Amino acid sequence: MTLTLERDAEAALVEVKGLRHVYGKGGGAGLLVLEDVNLTLNPGEIVGLLGRSGSGKSTLLRSIAGLITPTGGSIAISEASRQGAARGVSMVFQSFALFPWLTVLKNVELGLEAQGVPADIRRKRTLAAIDLIGLDGFENAYPKELSGGMRQRVGLARALVVQPSILLMDEPFSALDVLTAETLRTDLLDLWSEGQMPIRSILLVTHNIEEAVLMCDRILIFSSNPGKVTGEIKVDLPRPRHRLHPAFRALVDDIYARMTARPAGPPTPGMAAPGAGLGDALTHISTNTLSGMIEALAASPNNGVADLATLGRELQMEADELLPIAETLQLLRFAEVAGRTIRLTPPARRYDAADVDGRKQLFAQHLLAYVPLAAHIRRVLDDRASHQAPATRFRDELEDFMSEDYAQETLDAVVSWGRYAEIFAYDEDDDRFSLDDPT
Ligand code: ATP
Ligand code: MG
Repeated sequence: MTLTLERDAEAALVEVKGLRHVYGKGGGAGLLVLEDVNLTLNPGEIVGLLGRSGSGKSTLLRSIAGLITPTGGSIAISEASRQGAARGVSMVFQSFALFPWLTVLKNVELGLEAQGVPADIRRKRTLAAIDLIGLDGFENAYPKELSGGMRQRVGLARALVVQPSILLMDEPFSALDVLTAETLRTDLLDLWSEGQMPIRSILLVTHNIEEAVLMCDRILIFSSNPGKVTGEIKVDLPRPRHRLHPAFRALVDDIYARMTARPAGPPTPGMAAPGAGLGDALTHISTNTLSGMIEALAASPNNGVADLATLGRELQMEADELLPIAETLQLLRFAEVAGRTIRLTPPARRYDAADVDGRKQLFAQHLLAYVPLAAHIRRVLDDRASHQAPATRFRDELEDFMSEDYAQETLDAVVSWGRYAEIFAYDEDDDRFSLDDPT
């Protein structure tokens, strides 16, 4: 991994080329999170990075911020952007990451202390940043006295006080309630368009399509496994933008469709769909959500078929939320996803019409047939005289393929589905699987 400092002031502020990152895993092969990531940040633009959870967005941002050293590739930061802040880059985190024992003033000032700025200048710049971000009067408050919105303002002030050229924002509004988030977005856009901040470019990570369209000049679509930039959309809508404007809606729909796009064509019957191997991570979607989605799709006006973008809008779901549900239904062969169309399979229609027991039986059949991990756990329990097995046995197996977090989520998914289907039981206290009621 090389870090270069460019001289040309007009050149890109940040140029990421062929970035690759593997999280090491003691002895194992490691987890490839980023591969061949390329992106450019130019002066005067807000760029969105839109991708699903776990795709490596934070890893990319942390690499650009210099908080971690990527395994390979290069990150060039123009020398012109390097002022006070090391690298000229500041980052705002999703979780506000404030020190609870320090006041607002001290939390903001901290970054400058690290840079060795003299005390009087430090105080002046801190107060200016606090003022700019609308925290006037809260200088001596402690984080716990502040609302989420105010805390994120502290996070923003702390990022700005070092006068960076490049602001990296990692889902900065996602932990806030809807109204607070909107206020903060608007305030930030106002500061940006009035040129009140020293910032020359913002890279905004989000999984919220509307937020990206509202704020960005360019949106990069980031795909998963491994994370890479797979598409770019220019947003030419005039500012300020209005969410209800037809052109705004059309763009949101278009991006939605791009993110939900799958290779067209129905899956071949009898052939394993992608994501059906023993070592593939599962997303923990509750069976309530799965049956709710089957019901919503089966009911009119959908009658078994829907356009994913339209469905997302009807159910007020982000692509990030809807896609894992659609994928899980597809994995279980309760739905087929082709392009942006999702279609219930005949068993899903039967599931919709069945009573509670009928549903459980159908779910159990599909779980054992199409989720190899569920079948594997069941087989191990059947084979053992005790009909019991510690969960660590399966967790360790999974960790050969994926990170600890993913292994746990995969196990959580299979536990909740297996319990619902009554194909095995799991005791939380003992962390142990069993055939409670071997059949
Ligand atoms: P989210 O939208 O949930 O914030 P993200 O796109 O920011 O996700 P990252 O946090 O970059 O994704 O994580 C990408 C992958 O790397 C995930 O599989 C995660 O479990 C893994 N990962 C992240 N940090 C580490 C780490 N320090 N060690 C090992 N694996 C990690
Ligand atoms: Mg993240």
